Amino acid sequence: MTNTELNLAGKTGYILTMGEILVEIMASERGQSFRKPGTLLGPFPSGAPAIFIDQAAKAGGRCAMIGCVGDDDFGALNIERLRTDGVEMSGIAVVKTATTGSAFVTYRDDGDRDFVYNITNSASGFLSVEYVNDDLLKQCSHFHVMGSSLFSPSIIAAMKKILETVKANGGTVSFDPNIRKEMLRVPEMRRALDFILNYTDVFLPSGHEAMLLTGATDEKGAIAELLGRGVREIVIKRGKDGCSYLNGQIELNVAALPVQEIDPTGAGDCFGGAYIACRAQGFSVEQSLQYAIAAGARAVTVSGPMEGTATLAQLDEFIANLSE
Ligand code: ATP
Ligand code: MG
Repeated sequence: MTNTELNLAGKTGYILTMGEILVEIMASERGQSFRKPGTLLGPFPSGAPAIFIDQAAKAGGRCAMIGCVGDDDFGALNIERLRTDGVEMSGIAVVKTATTGSAFVTYRDDGDRDFVYNITNSASGFLSVEYVNDDLLKQCSHFHVMGSSLFSPSIIAAMKKILETVKANGGTVSFDPNIRKEMLRVPEMRRALDFILNYTDVFLPSGHEAMLLTGATDEKGAIAELLGRGVREIVIKRGKDGCSYLNGQIELNVAALPVQEIDPTGAGDCFGGAYIACRAQGFSVEQSLQYAIAAGARAVTVSGPMEGTATLAQLDEFIANLSE
């Protein structure tokens, strides 16, 4: 390790995230439309930050989440899954008057997805500073921000409080912008994303997102700008083209594993969860990237957003089977 390399290990606190918890209900056929009745599959546990933290816990991280579910079976399904997979649940609240969030997804013939979301008006829409468990926050050594979670002013306010506290306590922050294009049109949201970037140690954009929050016109310029403003490492996720890691000193390009994509949902979240959990356990950047690549690849081979999360032993086996 060079002495300027970011150290995410050696801290015993939680890897913590906050955000939407939902169920996903999927069309069973490619090309199926929601404009007429059809066969649906699910409910599956979901929500980008929930998938991230589930994968991080399975990969051996000490993990907790702040989130809200309704007092219903969709909430119970998520609670049961996260708890079974090792996530500390004291930050998850059951909101009696609300319903657990949901997302309905159809797959186009070219593999692209369309979603019908019920998140803003669900239990997840209740998230605010009030639900930030101070005890958990004190024990947090790494906080992960999922950009998709920043859908209300009260969540943005809660996120700001968390970031300030975690940083003041010597913790680190990762940020996956996971941007839906509509978000950038809201000035408040854009300012929030910008604010979060100022606290970010590890930035985990998808290819095109590397540039979105900078003034740069190409990826190289964006990377220079991001490192210049204090981001310590950037891991660009490139789908079936793998990923790139940059920290201003070294650049690593890692190929994806050759797999047949069945369902792309959750790949980026699994990649991030595995990467952060491995780094927090003191694995090298190279080793952490290998597990992240494997977690992303395994996720796309399994139908359902959180169904592809895996332990490190399962990822070792997955890698070994691919190279046979
Ligand atoms: P999303 O937000 O849709 O979950 P993302 O854009 O954040 O995804 P991706 O780049 O799609 O993230 O996927 C994350 C990682 O998972 C990739 O860097 C790659 O290593 C792996 N991966 C994704 N798709 C494939 C694929 N078709 N084949 C092999 N590996 C893949
Ligand atoms: Mg993503």
